[in-house]
Amino acid sequence: MSDPRRALPSVSALLESAGVRALLESAPRGVVVDAVRAVVSHARFDSTSAPIAESEWMSAIADRIRLAQQASLRPVLNATGIVLHTNLGRAPLAPDAIDAMTRIAAGYSNLEYDLDAGARGSRYTHCASLLRELTGAEDALVVNNCAAALVLALNTIAEGREAILSRGELVEIGGSFRVHEIIAKSGAVLREVGATNRTHLADYERAAGPRTGAILKVHRSNFAIEGFVADTPVRDLVPLAQRLGVPIVHDLGSGLLISLAELGLEGEPTAREAFAAGASVVVMSGDKLLGGPQAGIIIGSAALLAAMRANPLARSYRVDKLTLAALEATLTLYREPERAMREIPALALLGASLADLRSRATRIHDALTAAGAECEIVDSISTVGAGAFPGAELPSVAIALAGDAEHWARRLRAGTPAVIGRVRDDAFMLDVRAIAPADVDALITAVLDARD
Ligand SMILES: *Cc1c(COP(=O)(O)O)cnc(C)c1O
Repeated sequence: MSDPRRALPSVSALLESAGVRALLESAPRGVVVDAVRAVVSHARFDSTSAPIAESEWMSAIADRIRLAQQASLRPVLNATGIVLHTNLGRAPLAPDAIDAMTRIAAGYSNLEYDLDAGARGSRYTHCASLLRELTGAEDALVVNNCAAALVLALNTIAEGREAILSRGELVEIGGSFRVHEIIAKSGAVLREVGATNRTHLADYERAAGPRTGAILKVHRSNFAIEGFVADTPVRDLVPLAQRLGVPIVHDLGSGLLISLAELGLEGEPTAREAFAAGASVVVMSGDKLLGGPQAGIIIGSAALLAAMRANPLARSYRVDKLTLAALEATLTLYREPERAMREIPALALLGASLADLRSRATRIHDALTAAGAECEIVDSISTVGAGAFPGAELPSVAIALAGDAEHWARRLRAGTPAVIGRVRDDAFMLDVRAIAPADVDALITAVLDARD
């Protein structure tokens, strides 16, 4: 048998061909040359699947060029049923937030310029008054994320002194955030009290003394403990903190601004409630239940926040103008809570009724079956994600695609946009909870494209 490799065209011959010359019109020469080399070397390595006709060579080269030119960071459709999926970018932004970012991104802004005084201003003024209004706190400061907010707060308040924390709150929030490591990096000294399941006021009292710099409360974001448990709420710690003359720092995590009890989501305090309970400082994320951009929000007493602004660490955690633009626009929506529920995508997705989800699923199912893709509508359970409302299960609806689940998973991940779903009972599931109504058509197209 003849060696098919002998018939392979050379890189230079391909580069001279009319087909590749046409591709050079739409991609930089270096990218095209690399693509041609890669296709030829792949064909040498695996001659059985090597292109034969000229058109096959061109389409293999065009595919390589497309892969080389696609952005690393790109949109995906979230069919996991997890609304605030940290790996998928947490909260999608509201249209107003996107408009605000676009406006600020395109030109100059008064980021650090006081337009009244005609003099240098501070970026930290921009969301402060809205946050005061929405949380009841005396002052507010926005930094890059909640982890940074916690380090800044502890470093400012308790560097070189002890931060008392219940063993039940010594948690890990995602692989890169473990509370004890964050405390160590802040320069505060962790003073653990109580037991994993129970911590009483007396435990805090025994640990308190001249070395105490702060009492820390960390919201158990991503798990729930049940059974023989006891917790000392912030309210009960206030007299002790006052006696010691130290602040209570509450790491709230989620950044809930309005109650979601009507959606059946209970047990997570709002920022206003957390502050009213007596914490001197509350820190939270911008991109969890608040539904805004990645940010760390610190609310609390004016004196403590002034000290945090003056801390050199604040400079290294400083927030970017696009974040401030998106956050301000998102916060503004909260002035009208019904509007926030409607227009902030995370809240709208969480608020969708089972009937909404069924009709979303039916649209997808009918379009897929009409195009010959076998699937069925099944019950599903979705979750809030990002560690918020850890025990909560929201009834949802999914499309189960017939056929090999791993094959679907791989093909859908490779599409544009990629679709991330989940495998349950050996079937590939597309949970519709986190598919916004505006993304339904894109999802249908992506599934049909992934078939062949
Ligand atoms: C999510 C979370 C954090 C980390 O927030 P980032 O904004 O991701 O840095 C910190 N603390 C708690 C309690 C959390 O839930």
